[in-house]
Amino acid sequence: CPWGAPNTASISCSLADVMSEQLAKELQLEEENAAFPEVVAVAEGPFITGENIDTSSDLMLAQMLQMEFDREYDAQLRREEKKINGDSKVSISFENYRKVHPYDSDSSEDEVDWQDTRHDPYRADKPTTTPRRGFIGKGKDITTKHDEVVCGRKNTARMENFAPEFQVGDGIGMDLKLSNQVFNALKQHAYSEERRSARLHEKKEHSTAEKAVDPKTRLLLYKMVNAGMLETITGCISTGKESVVFHAYGGKSATEDKVIPPECAIKVFKTTLNEFKNRDKYIKDDYRFKDRFSKLNPRKIIRMWAEKEMHNLTRMQNAGIPCPQVVILKKHVLVMSFIGKDQIPAPKLKDVTLSSEDMKKAYYQTLNMMQQLYKECNLVHADLSEYNMLWHDGKVWLIDVSQSVEPTHPHGLEFLFRDCRNVAQFFQKGGVAEALNERELFNAVSGLNITADNEVDFQAEIEALEKMNEDHVQNHGKKLATFSSDGDPPIYDE
Ligand code: ADP
Ligand code: MN
Repeated sequence: CPWGAPNTASISCSLADVMSEQLAKELQLEEENAAFPEVVAVAEGPFITGENIDTSSDLMLAQMLQMEFDREYDAQLRREEKKINGDSKVSISFENYRKVHPYDSDSSEDEVDWQDTRHDPYRADKPTTTPRRGFIGKGKDITTKHDEVVCGRKNTARMENFAPEFQVGDGIGMDLKLSNQVFNALKQHAYSEERRSARLHEKKEHSTAEKAVDPKTRLLLYKMVNAGMLETITGCISTGKESVVFHAYGGKSATEDKVIPPECAIKVFKTTLNEFKNRDKYIKDDYRFKDRFSKLNPRKIIRMWAEKEMHNLTRMQNAGIPCPQVVILKKHVLVMSFIGKDQIPAPKLKDVTLSSEDMKKAYYQTLNMMQQLYKECNLVHADLSEYNMLWHDGKVWLIDVSQSVEPTHPHGLEFLFRDCRNVAQFFQKGGVAEALNERELFNAVSGLNITADNEVDFQAEIEALEKMNEDHVQNHGKKLATFSSDGDPPIYDE
């Protein structure tokens, strides 16, 4: 045999060797268990159902190590890049050799804890105007929309409309001007990519319906447990199209002044789905986002939903509306107090059978909350229905406010009317004789006095009001303080 005779003798080893190997293994296991007890606790949670715990924690560890390795590699690469470039005016970029795509990297900016923002950054009231007439300027400085530069910039901005997965880079930051031809070719490509990704995604979604958390998110959750902020993440309460909600037992707070609730809900906004595209209309036209939206990459836009939910919850909390209390926001993961007890979430209003007395109580409370939300928080829920109201401790709690907008949002009043329709229908069907109809409810909440007695005319008047505000924005560069009202909305009470 050209390879030589197999030497079986060399395999044999002494009993002592075997013993010590076993001992080493045992020791290692022991050590691992002591060092990473939480890994198992997290891993055996809902994300890896039906799988061997050991394997999943190995996978988890491997992923964490890989991420750490990639980060270190990139850091080294950056150092080398810096060394080579020195003070030279012309620099070489190593970006293409990085392990972590810039979009995925945890840059220091990304680490910003929005909780530390002293004020609500969305309270801005300086919306920007866009020229309506298709030209700006006067005399020979006139620029029309057919101007090459303007048109090029517009095309670049329009790239933001492509699917979140379609990475368009920071064209706006670079003041990139795309010709129509290039833009159209890109658009074509983006759409076919979107369709392809949707197809792929559909398959993936079916196979991983329950474990919708990617390694990065897992790592984030793991860090929270490891830091002691959360005791254990016990299980998944809900998997929606846009978010996954987990239950967790609260741990200890790093700071004295903050108390972590004994039970928490963790809302993880999905970073992978196209679904968020459908919500563009909420955010795109929101004055609070005008300046920021165009500059953000898709990942950040999804984080913005979490951020928005946090700020809206805080406003509601300040107004005394029963709602989850914000614990912490990390990227696209929002931790809040759990509405419910012993891991059992409070039922949605649609799932609970209330006595007629409780139903009436719930109605008046909802009416009050809608008024408070509008008047004191300057918000319209925009997805209010029996699905997003929980019944707990004998009262209604409002949740799911990431899409909530200010009343002067270009479609704010339409959203409010939709909310009113849902609420009115629910309580009327629920047998509350006192329940106002949707139009009365709308007036009661907004303090407006729209007199139309049928849905179509009412809707038309709402749209006219919205248009009035838009025109005001166009002409004065700022939105109306409030919609003109006939005095304060009457506060309804029992
Ligand atoms: P989605 O956008 O997926 O509808 P939600 O915020 O409505 O997100 O959360 C989905 C579900 O998770 C809710 O219907 C509710 O049952 C549960 N849930 C969310 N937040 C909490 C919380 N703070 N306490 C208890 N249950 C919650
Ligand atoms: Mn919901």
